[in-house]
Amino acid sequence: MVEYPIPRHIKEFFQLVSTNNNEYEVKGNIKCSCGSETFSIYQSNDKMIVKLICQKCNKEIIIFDAGKHGWNARRCSI
Ligand SMILES: [Zn+2]
Repeated sequence: MVEYPIPRHIKEFFQLVSTNNNEYEVKGNIKCSCGSETFSIYQSNDKMIVKLICQKCNKEIIIFDAGKHGWNARRCSI
């Protein structure tokens, strides 16, 4: 079984659409728990946080949070 590189916190919203997925690349759709697939994308100015906001129920699904999930471990030291 291939372990897809989908962060655990968005796995429940993620639906695979392609059969060509591998451990490096995954194609799919994000679907809100309310059933909507229409989202606004929010990105913080420093691009540390990227999240989707459901246009139907305003639920926020954080796709990327550098501080929290540590995908980018590089931090500026003062
Ligand atoms: Zn929703």
